[in-house]
Amino acid sequence: MDIFEKCRQFTEAKDAQEAGLYPYFIPLTDSEGTACTVGDHRLIMIGSNNYLGLTTHPRVRQAAIEATQRYGTSCTGSRFLNGTLELHLELERRLAEFVGTEAALVFSTGYQTNLGTLSALVGRGDFVITDKEDHASIVDGCRLAFGEMRRFGHNDLEHLERVLSKLPEEVGKLVVVDGVFSMGGDIAPLSELVPLCQKYGAQLMVDDAHSMGVLGGGRGTAAHFGLTDEVDLTMGTFSKSFASLGGFIAGAADVIHYIQHHARSLIFSASMPPSNVAAALAALEVMQEEPERIARVNEIGKRMRAGFRQLGFEVGQSGTPIVPVIIGEDTDTFMAWKALYEAGVYTNPVISPAVPPGSALLRTSYMATHTDDQLDRVLATFAEVGRALELIA
Ligand code: PMP
Repeated sequence: MDIFEKCRQFTEAKDAQEAGLYPYFIPLTDSEGTACTVGDHRLIMIGSNNYLGLTTHPRVRQAAIEATQRYGTSCTGSRFLNGTLELHLELERRLAEFVGTEAALVFSTGYQTNLGTLSALVGRGDFVITDKEDHASIVDGCRLAFGEMRRFGHNDLEHLERVLSKLPEEVGKLVVVDGVFSMGGDIAPLSELVPLCQKYGAQLMVDDAHSMGVLGGGRGTAAHFGLTDEVDLTMGTFSKSFASLGGFIAGAADVIHYIQHHARSLIFSASMPPSNVAAALAALEVMQEEPERIARVNEIGKRMRAGFRQLGFEVGQSGTPIVPVIIGEDTDTFMAWKALYEAGVYTNPVISPAVPPGSALLRTSYMATHTDDQLDRVLATFAEVGRALELIA
């Protein structure tokens, strides 16, 4: 059998392209935050993770330019060898202070952070226990680990307790949840998760990719619940509120030191380029100096949830600026995506297996910099499209 045969047999994406219903890999001609263009088609962007709108902030832009001018375009090597600048260490110090932990370690992407952290920590004989809706990078990190993986139903604490109670007392156990779930925008119930982990001697890691810059004054989910000292590891990415690219893990100094010397995705991959480090540092400063951005993006989330509900759409359990508009069937979701796109609203369609079959949705997400006028236009367009496709009355 020719190894490429499966590639020739893979026609789903081509079929969707031919039907004009293919929503992925759309090349943007221009993007300045809340609006973008594809060719000369202008759209309101409600499909990005630029929560604080900092990708175009003059200070963040300038910091990236100056770092490129000073250090060049790349570190051309691993953090382990020639790829650590003082700038990386400064970002790590500032992040640890911001999150409220002893130490932090910066990776080149959030994906690599989860891969490296989990595969380093969960050794033979250990167990890692994940929520079924945890991000793919957590799943992949667990697959690389030598320990065993168990899963529990989304935010289902009774299920988690059943899983934990069956594990041997003496083994290492790490529970991993998204602080804010990336598709549903709902928040992990840390006030119940923390005591449950403590009861069974498990450590808790929270992926705060979508919570940094949004919850707990920007400091993430643990801060949101007043549980900073109770969460053992906090993971974050720079590809969202931090307006850059990269990721970090924060926790106790000895744990971070161990990860630093065992995470293969850190050791065997080139470090974050200077411009990305500088942009993340500048974004962190702006985040702290302009808390009104955090308040604004949360207020927008609330307003959009109410707006969609009022129109008759379902938005699930979202409590953040990620607002899923649940459509149901995959085909209806693609049709709605296409109609919105043509009417000038950029959303992200999410179908199974990313969500359970029959729960396909349009993922909408907001920025502190969206104007009221843009948000009104989004709701008006959803109303028109929803009625035309008979998704709402
Ligand atoms: N964790 C979560 C919850 C995410 O949503 C993402 C990216 N969307 C990642 C990790 C990976 O982050 P990055 O894009 O920085 O690789």
